[in-house]
Amino acid sequence: MISYEIPDPFDTFVANKYKDYNGMLYDFFAREWHLRCACCQEDLYAPNKKTMIKIRLYHTRNECLGGY
Ligand SMILES: [Zn+2]
Repeated sequence: MISYEIPDPFDTFVANKYKDYNGMLYDFFAREWHLRCACCQEDLYAPNKKTMIKIRLYHTRNECLGGY
């Protein structure tokens, strides 16, 4: 078995794929996703990642940036 010093390409791919999910955490007890907005530190909750992305998008557009 040869061990490589270079990063695993698949790990790098996964890290890049999910880099937008930074700060998004799954609460196993509440069974929902939790994200603290980087702009206003407001807590956002969603039942799944897809909904969380929509909520975050709505939040940043309509609440953080005031419609900009
Ligand atoms: Zn915010």
